[in-house]
Amino acid sequence: MDFSFSPEELKIRERAAEVARLVKPHAHAWDEANLLTDELRQVMRDSGLARLMVPAEFGGESERLDPLHIALVREQLMAASSAADALFALQGIGSNAITTVGTPEQKAYWLPRIASMDALAAVALTEPQTGSDLRSITTTMVRDGDDLVVNGAKSFISNAPYADVYATLVKEGDGLSLVLVPKETPGVTFGRTPDLIAPHVIGEVFYDDVRITDADRLGEPGKGLEAALGTLAIFRVSVGAAAIGLAEAALAVAVRHTQERQNKGRPLARIGAVASLLADAKIDLEQARWVTYHAAWKARTDPLGAISTTSLAKVAATEAADRVTDRCVQVMGRFGLLAGSDIERYAREARPMRIYEGANEVLRLTIARDLPGEYLA
Ligand SMILES: Cc1cc2nc3c(=O)[nH]c(=O)nc-3n(C[C@H](O)[C@H](O)[C@H](O)COP(=O)(O)OP(=O)(O)OC[C@H]3O[C@@H](n4cnc5c(N)ncnc54)[C@H](O)[C@@H]3O)c2cc1C
Repeated sequence: MDFSFSPEELKIRERAAEVARLVKPHAHAWDEANLLTDELRQVMRDSGLARLMVPAEFGGESERLDPLHIALVREQLMAASSAADALFALQGIGSNAITTVGTPEQKAYWLPRIASMDALAAVALTEPQTGSDLRSITTTMVRDGDDLVVNGAKSFISNAPYADVYATLVKEGDGLSLVLVPKETPGVTFGRTPDLIAPHVIGEVFYDDVRITDADRLGEPGKGLEAALGTLAIFRVSVGAAAIGLAEAALAVAVRHTQERQNKGRPLARIGAVASLLADAKIDLEQARWVTYHAAWKARTDPLGAISTTSLAKVAATEAADRVTDRCVQVMGRFGLLAGSDIERYAREARPMRIYEGANEVLRLTIARDLPGEYLA
């Protein structure tokens, strides 16, 4: 077994670390603004990192998307700014269905623009009344002559209203289909999602007699859920990577604080109970890190076949990040509670990761479902 990264992987990680250094000083301001700033978009555009989200044939960097490369980037970006991490991640999450099941025309039009960040992508699955249970969505698509007419509402959509194109899950007859809806399509409007505890560029998308055609389908009619799940198979593990980036950044802050702060004439970190909290944080972090890297490596060759492993990594790493940030707040005492501090930001940002891209309880079902096949076959 070789646990070292290749020179190419190290180079990608270093590129991402460089972007992280550029964005970190702005993280609080961007959170505060809670909108997609021109500065962030420019930094991300200049970095070229979005080219990792598109196959080389359409302006990307490698022949196909590499979950480990994406994970390495998200780990670095999330440690610095969740807005930067989200903007990077969404270029892939929003466009992956175009890459995997899009038509040649859709690929040729959208993917080069997404790779260069001239266009921003989004995926619209969730609705005001439906989250985990996607089979119950109520946004409909019906045929009217040559047109397909979409009506409904999508809720908590990352990158809305800034994204230029929305991969939208619709109910078509008894099945679910995925369609590509450009922002400018007549009948598409946007609303505001309530502010979250961890600021995120997010919005509501409304479809009012939106007319598209068969050319806007993403994949076959009735196969929308499969296309959406294919995307999650590649990107779910990258949430785990973002979680370990966040946890490590929090631990670094807590280590510095507990070394500098004195208690009975010696560093706080030397008090047994504090040392123990820090050690537990480190143990959690390293377990999460290696489970995540392994899952990302496994997903490289067969993302759907690795779904149980990537789900496990997402659950393990996001729950580890929650525990790590909580311990870091604890060892910092009142200084861990200061609004606007880095540690406060990390603690808030760890929380949503257990809910999006598959609530952890739903993922546990996937993991448990595969156990008999693994142990009783
Ligand atoms: C920051 C953020 C960004 C998001 N971005 C997007 C986006 O870009 N596009 C998009 O479409 N959506 C997006 N979402 C929505 C996200 O995908 C949903 O929040 C998620 O699918 C969970 O759905 P829900 O919140 O409606 O929770 P519910 O489905 O109401 O579930 C609530 C809780 O019940 C439990 N639960 C539910 N179903 C099951 C089950 N079958 N088995 C076991 N336990 C279960 C879980 O604990 C879950 O947390 C985003 C959400 C957040 C917070």
